[in-house]
Amino acid sequence: MTVATLYIIATPIGNLEDITYRAVRILGEVDLIAAEDTRHSLKLLNHFGISKPLTSYFDHNQQFKGERILNALRRGKTVALISDAGTPCISDPGFQLVRDAVAENIPVVPLPGACAAVAALAASGLPTDNFTFAGFPPSRQGKRRTFLSDKNALQGTLVLYEAPHRLLETLSDIREVLGERQVIVARELTKIYEEFIRGTASEVIAAVSQSIVRGEVVILIAPGKITHHESEPLENVLRRLMDAGTLSIKDIAKQAAIISGVSRSDAYAEALKLKNSED
Ligand code: SAM
Repeated sequence: MTVATLYIIATPIGNLEDITYRAVRILGEVDLIAAEDTRHSLKLLNHFGISKPLTSYFDHNQQFKGERILNALRRGKTVALISDAGTPCISDPGFQLVRDAVAENIPVVPLPGACAAVAALAASGLPTDNFTFAGFPPSRQGKRRTFLSDKNALQGTLVLYEAPHRLLETLSDIREVLGERQVIVARELTKIYEEFIRGTASEVIAAVSQSIVRGEVVILIAPGKITHHESEPLENVLRRLMDAGTLSIKDIAKQAAIISGVSRSDAYAEALKLKNSED
């Protein structure tokens, strides 16, 4: 007897060779495949000679279809969830189903594979030790600018998905809100016209403006520079305040500590030392 299991299976984002052996095997073994667009997925399944009952599971039928899929799992069936491309649940339907399955202690097994965000990041040349994937920015400019400005202080690479017809306006907002950072547009990953457009925000905007960008794109933005204001050395500050001759040693130490970013006791000790050496 099979054990009810929900498999979350990544499928290619362009190049069909990017499916895994395990994905093909499990897709051929499960009782039911839940797909975002059944007609689209049928082409993939036919390509690999997989013939299994298919059901749709997309944004607008998630609640009702999720319940039917859960019922199948409750009856001990095995179900594979796939999306049109890449990893389900990553800017694709799946999260609610996984959450509900987890809540009912139904095993959820991921089959890793293609994900546009990770593929783009890996080949971007931008820092990979710390990154934020933020999905699609809002389509309205006001909300998009707020969304970007909320990410201004992030210290890692920012990875976004975007529709090609919004690419230029989003890049302009990136330059406007986040400044002249290094930006990379990763286009048509794993496909014939795969391309990485790299440069400052302005350079990438200029490159993208030259022709209509077609196909799918990931935008990657380098972390902003962390600017540390250079503090004036403590001794200089103390001397300047002492030379003014209007403050007590205690007040001089207090002000110098704030200006130089040192502790008040350190500033006081240093102030006393300076005063004694001058007496
Ligand atoms: N779940 C998918 C994944 O794991 O990458 C993402 C699905 S999301 C609905 C589709 C977006 O992913 C596209 O608008 C684009 O931003 C990005 N994308 C998908 N395939 C891509 C590709 N081959 N090249 C570049 N970006 C791609």
